[in-house]
Amino acid sequence: MKDKPSLGVYSFTGCAGCQLAILDCEDQLVDIFSAANVRVFYEAMSNNDDDAKVDIALVEGSINTDEQQEELKAVREKAKILIAFGSCAHHGCVQAMANGDGKWEERFKKVYGDAEFTVAKPMETRPLHEFVKVDGWIPGCPPGASQMLKALTQLINGSPPTYTNSAVCLECKFKENECLLNKHIMCLGPLTMGGCGAPCPSQNMPCVGCWGIIDEANHASELKKLMEYGFSKEEILRRFRLFGGSDIVDKVSELLEAK
Ligand code: SF4
Ligand code: SF4
Ligand code: SF4
Repeated sequence: MKDKPSLGVYSFTGCAGCQLAILDCEDQLVDIFSAANVRVFYEAMSNNDDDAKVDIALVEGSINTDEQQEELKAVREKAKILIAFGSCAHHGCVQAMANGDGKWEERFKKVYGDAEFTVAKPMETRPLHEFVKVDGWIPGCPPGASQMLKALTQLINGSPPTYTNSAVCLECKFKENECLLNKHIMCLGPLTMGGCGAPCPSQNMPCVGCWGIIDEANHASELKKLMEYGFSKEEILRRFRLFGGSDIVDKVSELLEAK
């Protein structure tokens, strides 16, 4: 009989909600633990083996200290496949909303004053791919059950995870929602990775982009539309920053500069 692949679930800076999303799949948990040899998963088990080499590492959270950088590199060395698990790991998520504004030290001082950090040196938060090779990612904040279970099934069976690369708008249209953009409400659905089932626009709330950006997002077109509707550059940038993290801020700032 073929050996079961080994799996590790590791966590850095975030709310731990991505790991919780696995535990929330109560009907499938026994199947997951039966199909894989789970070696590390602190939110689920007490007998963790930190030194274990694993076939698949699911890594949640972004990187906030030099110590975490080293820990992430150690996970990379132990894992055959490393997956950025959720938005924090993939693009920084909410804690990266002010990345690159040049005020990180000022904000840090406001919170921590002159406190000395002896164990680890804090830094502006960054997604995993800025430090190690990432072999794939599972989108979402947190990832949705159906897409995550599909990705886990693929990984356990030796295939790379696939994800929906169409915008939230597609799922929104399937639900026959009236488009919020047509009502001049700032919705980021056209730029955002689908897979969540468009719960926000279905409740008359705009998409704020928590699943991350689709590969072929047309930022210029969305910005043009929002500016036509009277939103200021500051309002637009603030909204994009909310979940866009490091990956989007430079791009959007550059496009806004040109307008
Ligand atoms: S991606 Fe969202 S749910 Fe997952 S750890 Fe980050 S903040 Fe929490
Ligand atoms: S409401 Fe938002 S997600 Fe839905 S179709 Fe309009 S822009 Fe797209
Ligand atoms: S904010 Fe957008 S991507 Fe996130 S759950 Fe709502 S509709 Fe989906």
